[in-house]
Amino acid sequence: MDPSIRVTEIFHSIQGESSHAGQPTVFVRLTGCGLRCTYCDTRYAYYGGTEMALGDVVERVRQYGTRLVEITGGEPLEQASAIPLMERLLAAGYTVMLETGGHASIADVPEGVIKIIDVKTPDSGEPDTFHEPNIALAAPHDEFKFVISTERDYRWSRDFYRTRLAGRGNTVLFSPSHGNLSNRQLSEWILADRLPVRFQLQLHKYIWKPDVRGV
Ligand code: SF4
Repeated sequence: MDPSIRVTEIFHSIQGESSHAGQPTVFVRLTGCGLRCTYCDTRYAYYGGTEMALGDVVERVRQYGTRLVEITGGEPLEQASAIPLMERLLAAGYTVMLETGGHASIADVPEGVIKIIDVKTPDSGEPDTFHEPNIALAAPHDEFKFVISTERDYRWSRDFYRTRLAGRGNTVLFSPSHGNLSNRQLSEWILADRLPVRFQLQLHKYIWKPDVRGV
């Protein structure tokens, strides 16, 4: 029998984050997350969802006709079936991205998947949840992401970058928490510290309204 997975929504949009921002992408948003970040914009994915056979998920993705698909949530790695789903999508020829909160191990994620790994900051509401071995497990194409709400968050993220990520070759993304920290303030801190990280905005929140679902 085909394994199943709990899905909140599958939709077609513009990739809003990471160095792949701007590309048409199919998003598979899985249900459930053990964290409760203060800035979470997908609370509707904590519960509910629909149980779908993996084959049906792959078929829904196929119907959109893109080559880029992102598995997101919620926290995708809290469902064991996320691993075979990513394997099937890779086997079907897709470029597969995974957005993960960083608290779950990426050890079983297939090598070819581009992982966007969050590192939760002190003011995220979920400090000290980062699964430290994920740094060594990351492939060169994987990216680390910090969502920054305050100056304390910025300083903490800067120090984390300098002590644990600098020199590894991974793209490091610094994103202002939407509505909590201004784009300009974060940009100025990055420039003042000569920090070689990538400033990013959540592009989809500028294309559509920030609270629109399914984009
Ligand atoms: S890890 Fe992501 S889905 Fe989970 S609470 Fe934080 S922002 Fe929301």
